[in-house]
Amino acid sequence: MSAMLSTKESLQFPYKCNKTDEFEKAFRKLDTPVQKTIQKTIEEVLFRQPYASKKLISAEHKGKRSLRKGDYRILFAVCEECVKLREVDINRCKSCQSHGTNDVMIFTVGHRKKIYDA
Ligand SMILES: [Zn+2]
Repeated sequence: MSAMLSTKESLQFPYKCNKTDEFEKAFRKLDTPVQKTIQKTIEEVLFRQPYASKKLISAEHKGKRSLRKGDYRILFAVCEECVKLREVDINRCKSCQSHGTNDVMIFTVGHRKKIYDA
């Protein structure tokens, strides 16, 4: 059983969630308690205050934002910002251009040690 929200359920949140296959794959690899914590963080923080996160500036992760939860990091972009700052190419998220102002794109999740040298 998937712990992720269905599209219908996610509509109740201010920000709409778009996820990459990479995120789905990384999420499935996490232990169940970690999945639950991450899911909660996505719902309670990322969907509500996506800008309350760290804008990454390293060459590797430029264009993305990082939301921290314990030792885990969720890498994502706010589609509106992504388009505004012309980061669509580096984020490789063409769909951002057709997204609304309240869309987020979640790229991946993982332990900080793995995420930052992936
Ligand atoms: Zn984007």
